Amino acid sequence: SFKALLTTKQGETLATSLVTLEDDDLMAGDVTVAVDYSTVNYKDGMALTGRSPIIQVFPLIPGVDLSGTVEASSYPGIEVGDRVVANSWGLGQTHHGGYTQKARLSGDWLVKLPDVFSTKDAMAIGTAGYTAMLCVLALEHGGVTPDRGDIVVTGANGGVGSIAIALLSDLGYRVVASTGRLDQSDYLRELGAAEVIDRATLSGPGKPIAVERWAGAVDSVGSHTLANVLAQTQYRGVVTACGLAQGLDLPATVLPFILRNVTLAGIDSVNAPQAVRLEAWSRLARDLDLAKLARTTKVVGLTDVPEIAPQILAGQVQGRTVVDVNS
Ligand code: NAP
Repeated sequence: SFKALLTTKQGETLATSLVTLEDDDLMAGDVTVAVDYSTVNYKDGMALTGRSPIIQVFPLIPGVDLSGTVEASSYPGIEVGDRVVANSWGLGQTHHGGYTQKARLSGDWLVKLPDVFSTKDAMAIGTAGYTAMLCVLALEHGGVTPDRGDIVVTGANGGVGSIAIALLSDLGYRVVASTGRLDQSDYLRELGAAEVIDRATLSGPGKPIAVERWAGAVDSVGSHTLANVLAQTQYRGVVTACGLAQGLDLPATVLPFILRNVTLAGIDSVNAPQAVRLEAWSRLARDLDLAKLARTTKVVGLTDVPEIAPQILAGQVQGRTVVDVNS
């Protein structure tokens, strides 16, 4: 038997509690993983609170990420003893997720962990960090090199934001961190922010086109913030949009696109093809400073997760939260 969190639905209300399960309770899959760690992303907050219908099957083990060691495999190329990471796909949505000591899932969903990372590092990165890298790759793809100018990172204290700052600064970009928590400026500067700005300067209704400030952006906030970032982006700049922490609306105009040739690059981590994931994980292995990663991370146990879920939605969590499923 093994321990897991299980989310059930009564009427419109979700409840999540620690349960003991047997191997027979696992869903179908060609790989069984002894899980070491999971993590709490914003999406996990939405899932556990029911703010968005992330969990589509009940009862379900929630958690969109996991890392661990392969215990059994009939999947070509994945062997017993391999250290693996899984980000999203159906995890915690239609298939049992990461808040468990044991998982059975499709080998298609697994990435073998680069040697430099422990399974704990893998979940300190998690979907948030892997998404930050997808944003970096999109900036590079759009030709945004460090000499082009400043990169603004919104939601700077969050998981995506923290890791985006660490990655971009070490790649030589000048990073401007936008945050509602100015008292955390030291944390943001230690991660590599050259400048910290108050998110209130971006979060209200703004002009359709404004003074050119950004060569590029990593936006995990959406809404007016994304609209203002677009309006302030330089000629031929690239804005990567991956989140909705402020809202899922986009009250913008086409002017940044047709006057300044700005590119709005969409970022989806959930259904990203395996080749894209492998590229992101190998670039994380090359470019992410593990000391900075550790600075973003705190570790909790399975039973702590339900109370962290509403906190992450309220913007009260800093950096990355790793879940030690065996603690
Ligand atoms: P997180 O750790 O909670 O970070 C979000 C940050 O946004 C907060 O720390 C806060 O930063 C800022 N924020 C919160 N509420 C805000 C508001 N009302 N107005 C303006 N800023 C606000 O979450 P995360 O896990 O990094 O995820 C960030 C976003 O990216 C989420 O919307 C998530 O759903 C999305 N995401 C998408 C993908 C994808 O595949 N597209 C993958 C991962 C994440 P400050 O306190 O510094 O202001």
